[in-house]
Amino acid sequence: MITTVIIGMLCVHLLCFCVMFLLISTRLNGKKMGMEVLALGNLLLGLAYILQLLDGPTDWGVMSVASHTLTLSAPVAYVLGAMRFFDRPTPVVRPLLALAATYTVLQILVQSLLGSEARHAMLAGLCALLFLGMTVAVLYGRRTFASDLSVEMLVFAVLIGGICLLNAAKFVLIVEGGMAALDMSSSFQKVFYIYMSFLATVLPPCAVWLVLRRLTDELRSLAAHDPLTRLLNRRGLMDALEAHFRSRTAAPAYLLIVDIDHFKRINDTHGHNVGDLVLCRVAEVLKATARQGDLVCRLGGEEFVIIALDTDSVGVMQLAERTRAAIERSEVPGTSKSQLIRCTATIGVSDHFTSAQAFDEFLQQADAALYRGKTAGRNRVELGLGQQV
Ligand code: GH3
Ligand code: MG
Ligand code: MG
Repeated sequence: MITTVIIGMLCVHLLCFCVMFLLISTRLNGKKMGMEVLALGNLLLGLAYILQLLDGPTDWGVMSVASHTLTLSAPVAYVLGAMRFFDRPTPVVRPLLALAATYTVLQILVQSLLGSEARHAMLAGLCALLFLGMTVAVLYGRRTFASDLSVEMLVFAVLIGGICLLNAAKFVLIVEGGMAALDMSSSFQKVFYIYMSFLATVLPPCAVWLVLRRLTDELRSLAAHDPLTRLLNRRGLMDALEAHFRSRTAAPAYLLIVDIDHFKRINDTHGHNVGDLVLCRVAEVLKATARQGDLVCRLGGEEFVIIALDTDSVGVMQLAERTRAAIERSEVPGTSKSQLIRCTATIGVSDHFTSAQAFDEFLQQADAALYRGKTAGRNRVELGLGQQV
């Protein structure tokens, strides 16, 4: 009786979270992060338990066969959903249908050749193997493709590892004790279904948490980057600069402001779209020229900022000159195939500074140097006042 009530509650949890996953997936237009497949997994498992309840005492019959097939298909659906969450596009319907057909035939064969006991043992054994594979995959993911979700992956591994052990124990109990091991009033069955109910309550919020994390990470990244060039924007630059100066051993920073020369002419002559391509090309050049760890930002329009970290006044001038020359060398295809657009840039370099709060002051200093560079003929590097090499 108690076990029946627990299974009833388990069905309610599974179906409620199935609806919740579906609702979440409808809000995630386009990229559903596997939520719709997790919903399917919950639906399959919920239906499996409903059939088990309707079927009554474990026996051989259509409902029992369907229930076993659904029970095995559900974790496979969870695996496919997880693969989609981790950006591995995978088909869902065909593999699940193939599995369902194969397992149904297998059940009929095993039942007719070896009897009910073997059929139930087969389900427990296969579930144990499947959950073992999932646990290993989660632990592997923790070290590789999901290393940013280390704690979450560990929690998943422990929870899935638990159900793996329970299924393995069920397999052994059936093999040793026969169908009596499946008696709903036995302590083992109570523990088994209490644990399943616990999983059905705990795992869905964990999955929702992962989606929330992914979404907020994406939002943060969008807020910190310029949509055209994918460089940091001013907000992203300030955050990165603050993070840099929070370190006790942070080296002073130098600021370079890079402004494309006569950019308006490029727009006027070749059109705004080609102007955008030039901006993207310059952004690529800046990223390729700056050292790893330097911060590259599009401040707005055709103005960029590089923050050179961990260098000195000689190093920053070399970087500025390297950048100027690389922009001068770069080319962008124009509207006609034979046409190549070139551009130059003027660069103003600030003195070194040691706090994010000083950013505006040193931006002004570099801007003043840039202005002098523009009036002195453009395509040149100009130092801020107070700079000495
Ligand atoms: P200078 O050598 O003095 O810097 O001249 P300039 O023409 O580069 O500078 P100016 O400030 O006169 O013009 C900047 C132009 O950049 C004007 C604006 O239309 C264009 N611009 C700003 N943002 C974008 C953008 O996102 N895409 C494109 N294509 N053009 C942009
Ligand atoms: Mg300009
Ligand atoms: Mg400008």
